[in-house]
Amino acid sequence: MAELLKISRLTKRFGGLVALNQVDLTLEEGMIAGLIGPNGAGKTTLFNVVTGVYRPEEGSIRFLGQEIAGRKPHEITALGIARTFQNIRLFANMTALENVLVGHHCRMKAGLWGALSRNRRTLREEAAAHQRALELLRYVGLEGKEDTLSKNLPYGDQRRLEIARALASEPKLLLLDEPTAGMNPQETLTLTRFVDRIRRELGLTLLLIEHDMRVVMGISDRVTVLDYGMKIAEGSPEEVQKDPKVIEAYLGRRSELLHRRRRTATRERPHGTPQG
Ligand code: ADP
Ligand code: MG
Repeated sequence: MAELLKISRLTKRFGGLVALNQVDLTLEEGMIAGLIGPNGAGKTTLFNVVTGVYRPEEGSIRFLGQEIAGRKPHEITALGIARTFQNIRLFANMTALENVLVGHHCRMKAGLWGALSRNRRTLREEAAAHQRALELLRYVGLEGKEDTLSKNLPYGDQRRLEIARALASEPKLLLLDEPTAGMNPQETLTLTRFVDRIRRELGLTLLLIEHDMRVVMGISDRVTVLDYGMKIAEGSPEEVQKDPKVIEAYLGRRSELLHRRRRTATRERPHGTPQG
């Protein structure tokens, strides 16, 4: 399979903190790759660097053979990389349809003059964009909600709308940052199936950050694990699940978490209650 994205020795620092430490990651066309790791591992930072939000201190990111590290976000979108956000970022007071149209904007050719004069070509382009936005909304399951303000959509719909908006930029690579966060098990299952469908029907390559291990293990061709900014494991879901380094990274944090929870519980316990 052809290489779509090749990240080499990528390093991103925030002051003294090394959020990404010499990370290598290659995506082949048409794959679903999972990116997992405990909180603070550097997963979102990786997305931010790939999409041009941050400039890396070191390393290279080649997309379709071009170096894109340090390029502007809109240039990277135009080259064919789209993303969704861990915390939903929609235009709250715009309708679902308008949000999708914003995503499509980078593919519109009419310049300022076209927009002002509204010549025939511009009008045709706008009509096509409108049509395409409606199709995308239907595709993600939001038919009939075109005119709903995005802030009034249920949470799961907002997540789907974000995907529609990302798809509107006609990407080759789609980065999804915890798309099932906050979803119930049924919504999670539906979304997982949908991600798989996007890959099959649209021929996209996907990189998926996911906190739900079962989701990521179920649909990923390959899983990469980050911990403290470093890649600690990579392989098939089966391989990664068995990897002692991965188990330790997760269990380590989990026991920390449990410990903290237990302490909190102890503190909240009324005086004099025996602790068991
Ligand atoms: P993850 O998505 O894996 O939970 P992040 O990539 O969000 O982790 O964060 C990795 C580390 O980088 C964390 O310690 C986080 O606090 C830090 N970090 C992320 N963004 C910034 C920023 N803009 N400024 C300072 N520190 C940041
Ligand atoms: Mg994150």
